[in-house]
Amino acid sequence: GDELVASVHRLISHADDVRRLGVRTNADTADDAARARRFGAEGIGLCRTEHMFLGERRESVERLILADNDVDREAALAELEPLQRGDFLELLAAMDGLPVTIRLIDPPLHEFLPSMEDLAVKVAVARERGAESDHDVKLLAAVERLHEQNPMLGLRGVRLGLVVPGLFAMQVRAIASAAAELRGRGKDPRPEIMIPLVGAVQELHLARDEVERVLEEVGADVDIPIGTMIELPRAAVIADQIAEAADFFSFGTNDLTQTTWGFSRDDVEGAFFSRYLEKGIFAVSPFESIDREGVGALVRTGVDRGRSAKPDLKLGVCGEHGGDPDSIQFFHEAGLDYVSCSPFRIPVARLESGRAALD
Ligand code: PEP
Ligand code: MG
Repeated sequence: GDELVASVHRLISHADDVRRLGVRTNADTADDAARARRFGAEGIGLCRTEHMFLGERRESVERLILADNDVDREAALAELEPLQRGDFLELLAAMDGLPVTIRLIDPPLHEFLPSMEDLAVKVAVARERGAESDHDVKLLAAVERLHEQNPMLGLRGVRLGLVVPGLFAMQVRAIASAAAELRGRGKDPRPEIMIPLVGAVQELHLARDEVERVLEEVGADVDIPIGTMIELPRAAVIADQIAEAADFFSFGTNDLTQTTWGFSRDDVEGAFFSRYLEKGIFAVSPFESIDREGVGALVRTGVDRGRSAKPDLKLGVCGEHGGDPDSIQFFHEAGLDYVSCSPFRIPVARLESGRAALD
């Protein structure tokens, strides 16, 4: 037992000596960050901040959804800001001295909205009794207004940030203020801000301008890199334009696979892909292992065009593929700087990155 563990440790440490890929983790909590650090993570490559808006915070999120004027919206955001600040304090402290890529909110909106059907029933039943609540009626109207047939192809990521005033700004203030507090305590926080689901350079310019404006307003005293996800085919194709406005790229191969193949990451397996696998039409799902011919070609396009515009552009990947051995081999060949994966995949990612460098 002990000897085996020791030899695995030796193997991984040998891999660390030769690998060129950095290995970061996907983590949204201080616990996950600390666990990943123990496994050897060299930073956070993806913090999904939308996960911080669930649970007890639903009420504030509901108020934000209901807000139809600036005053109500600002009030809802003011409730959320100290909570976000607390989240970032813990996360940055757990990763002290290492980069922490914080992605601005990218919610699949349907996961945040109350169920339209349930709410409609509730309102109808109450109405029959002549006891409908004003709040529920308003909420139902808002939920109906926001309802989409394909929420994963809708108001997500940067699109949401651009149409809900103050949302991104609230998060950026929380990041800057958490970092300032930690620096005041003699710590070394290294946040990076990442903008999700960009498909057009115009979107990135608008979001980046807002982030920079807020950082200037709060007098952020250190450089906070601002980058973007490349997770839509269009973003990969125009990566040269996007690179002009980005300090780094992180390839989101989950969405890139979904949008390149045109099938839903949530439904595809149940809908038909498991039968494709049974019939031997494909040996492996493109969500599990990078599809080199399609998604991989777009990643290479993104790398080439991005670096042609900005040779020192930092490049990572934070989709599930970042923890898959075969995909790691591909990312090494494609010239990425780092992979980011779930905490428990970190040792495998270190090992596979080393193996890739030896091949
Ligand atoms: C991705 O799309 O690959 C990604 C990392 O973002 P998310 O999974 O949160 O959509
Ligand atoms: Mg994504």
